[in-house]
Amino acid sequence: MIEGELYDVAIIGAGASGLISASVLAEKNIKTVLIEKNSKMGRKLLSTGAGKANLSNTNISTDFYLCDDKRKLQEIFKKTPSEEVLNFLRYKLGVFTVVKERGKIYPLSEKSENVSFAFENFLKNSSVSVKLLTLITSVHYNKNIFEIKAKTLPHHFEKNDFVEKEFIIRARNLVISTGGPSYPKIGGTYSGFDIAKTLGHSINEIKPLITPFEVESPNLSLLDGIRRNARVVISIKGKQTIIEDEVLFTDYGISGPLALDLSFYYGREGEINSIFLDLYPELSDNELISFFNKRIDGSKSFKDLLFPSVEFRLAEFILKKLSIKVDDKTDIKGIERFVSEIKNLKLEGLTPCRFDMAMSKTGGVPLDEIDESFESKKIKNLFITGELLDSGGKSGGYNLHFAFTSGYASAKKIIERIYG
Ligand SMILES: Cc1cc2nc3c(=O)[nH]c(=O)nc-3n(C[C@H](O)[C@H](O)[C@H](O)COP(=O)(O)OP(=O)(O)OC[C@H]3O[C@@H](n4cnc5c(N)ncnc54)[C@H](O)[C@@H]3O)c2cc1C
Repeated sequence: MIEGELYDVAIIGAGASGLISASVLAEKNIKTVLIEKNSKMGRKLLSTGAGKANLSNTNISTDFYLCDDKRKLQEIFKKTPSEEVLNFLRYKLGVFTVVKERGKIYPLSEKSENVSFAFENFLKNSSVSVKLLTLITSVHYNKNIFEIKAKTLPHHFEKNDFVEKEFIIRARNLVISTGGPSYPKIGGTYSGFDIAKTLGHSINEIKPLITPFEVESPNLSLLDGIRRNARVVISIKGKQTIIEDEVLFTDYGISGPLALDLSFYYGREGEINSIFLDLYPELSDNELISFFNKRIDGSKSFKDLLFPSVEFRLAEFILKKLSIKVDDKTDIKGIERFVSEIKNLKLEGLTPCRFDMAMSKTGGVPLDEIDESFESKKIKNLFITGELLDSGGKSGGYNLHFAFTSGYASAKKIIERIYG
């Protein structure tokens, strides 16, 4: 096997955390290699925030993360304040930001492609050499040097005549930033966990987070595609939380911001027995009943009464559940049952969707196995960043925030060590 050059730093994975690490190192002219198995950098970053990249949030707190060690997370955020990372994106890379609803921070362009372009542009002609279509299969630590086994991958158009090459990359410092298993089609993988394990780290159980739910009952296919504001009250370990946001019904269950938030609160619990959805949170039961009641006389059927104000398919679905036909004559009892059902729609047997639909994960390398600059406590000069760590954020910019913070902080520590 060909033994390659010796680098000051090798970074495995050109996602959010690897790209910011590489950029901070490039600024100080540190001889670095950035290795990525995809044919382009920042593939997952491009898909974030539905193409808009929700980069961070103005309200960063450990409350918005599920992790094994909140005290460590607090120390991490104290050591590397949010503004420092955002200022690097703004003033070094040129990614100006804008604050939107609920403190969500986006690039001014509201386009993720501007962010990935900014990284590529910054790294062009820098001290960072980028190796795309290169998969890291294992890492050995030998006499203070990381020996990183790599193999080349074919581009989609060269599968037939492709000749695979295997080689070793050597580095004094290693940053593993291979992300988690979500969205395997765009790079999600467990490979970083395997590498961390071989280097002596443990891995807490990994589960999907920020994900839609499959619903066992009732069958929601009639509602497929309907979006509406809804409210759910959940109670976990005696603590009540209200989530009010848009729910998107699908043929398999529920998605949309409400479901993604729900997955955060149940992140470590797995299945949920049942929830009650209020599909008209803006009005009380009495307000709704009296609204319909006033129109009951002029309405011959439930269709006449409901269709002017309730989505047709939703009204049909609820009436069907109550064994009422749309053409049945209206009566107050029927209206009361309709209102009670639409404000308390019981969904049973909720299971978080798997990693092909989950945007993040819980579990990973425990935070107490790294210091607040993301250096491993097992091996000096080894850094572990981003989704590899046991820190899963709520939807709202918290996962990219953690990825950027970890990449930034790890590079800063490497620079300190090199320059003293
Ligand atoms: C659809 C979607 C939308 C999202 N939207 C948001 C959002 O708006 N805001 C937010 O905060 N979070 C969002 N997230 C979550 C966020 O994208 C991740 O938390 C974040 O990208 C994690 O960064 P990372 O650097 O740890 O990993 P990644 O960004 O996943 O990067 C890891 C990189 O490593 C490469 N790699 C893996 N293994 C190897 C190997 N063995 N050899 C070489 N390369 C390897 C991968 O190909 C990948 O490019 C979203 C996620 C998804 C899937």
